[in-house]
Amino acid sequence: TLTLQSLSKRFGRTVAVEDVSFNIAPGEFVSVLGPSGSGKTTLLTMIAGFEAPSSGQISIGGRDVTAAAPNRRNIGMVFQKYALFPHMTVHQNVAFPLRMRRFDRPAIKDRVRRILDLVQLVGFDDRYPNQLSGGQQQRVAVARALVCEPPVLLMDEPLGALDKNLREAMQLEIKRIQSKLGATVVYVTHDQDEAMTLSDRVAVMSGGTLVQLGSPVEIYHRPQSPFVAQFVGKMN
Ligand code: ATP
Repeated sequence: TLTLQSLSKRFGRTVAVEDVSFNIAPGEFVSVLGPSGSGKTTLLTMIAGFEAPSSGQISIGGRDVTAAAPNRRNIGMVFQKYALFPHMTVHQNVAFPLRMRRFDRPAIKDRVRRILDLVQLVGFDDRYPNQLSGGQQQRVAVARALVCEPPVLLMDEPLGALDKNLREAMQLEIKRIQSKLGATVVYVTHDQDEAMTLSDRVAVMSGGTLVQLGSPVEIYHRPQSPFVAQFVGKMN
C-alpha cells in the first residue's frame, strides 16, 4: 500500500500541494486529474523523492520513505523530463537500473529479455532511441521503469507527446503490463478520457488540494462539488 498522509508542499509563498491524504492499494491504478497548476506534478515528484514535502508523510508497504533518497524507494518512473538516454541502446537503457543495483550479467540479460518481450520490443535491443518511433520509445521507457519490478510505478503524462492512435494503443499496453505485474500505478494526465478509461480510481486536484477521490463512475455521476462537475463536463 502506498500511503500519503497530510502531504503539503510550499514553494515560497506558493502552496503547490496542500494537505493531501490517500491510500492506494497494491495493484491499483489511480489517475491524478486536474487543471494546469493544480499540483499534480508536485505530488508525483514528492512520491518519487525528487522534492521533499514541506510537511506530511509518505510510506510504501508500511515503510516510511518520506526522507529516503529516490533510488531507495523502490519506485519506477516514467517522466517526460527523464527521457531515454540518447547515447545508449535500447538494451543499455533498460539494463541501466539493474546495473545501478549491481545485478550480475546473466541476471541483467534475462530480465531485459523478459521485459522487452512484455513490451513487445524483442529484436530492438541494439537500436538507439532516435531509431525508434514515438510509441516504441515510450515502451522502452515503460520497460526501463518496470525492469526492477517495483511495487509502485509513477507516470507523469507519459503519453503526452504521442498522437491519438498511438496514445490509445499505448494506454491498453500500459494497462496490460500493469495487470500482469500487479504494480500500483499513479498516473498524471490532462486527458479525462484517458483517466476514466484506465483507472480504478481518479484523484481530482484543484489549487493543490485533493477535491475528490473515487471510481470513474463516482466522479462522473456523483461529483462532490461544482468544480468537479464542471471539470468532468457534467453539471448536476
Ligand atoms: P501542469 O498540468 O501544468 O503540469 P500541475 O498540476 O502538474 O500543472 P504543478 O507543476 O505541480 O502543477 O505546480 C503546482 C504549483 O506549484 C504551480 O502554481 C506552480 O507554479 C508551482 N510550482 C511548481 N514547481 C515549482 C518550483 N520548483 N518553484 C516554484 N513554484 C513551483
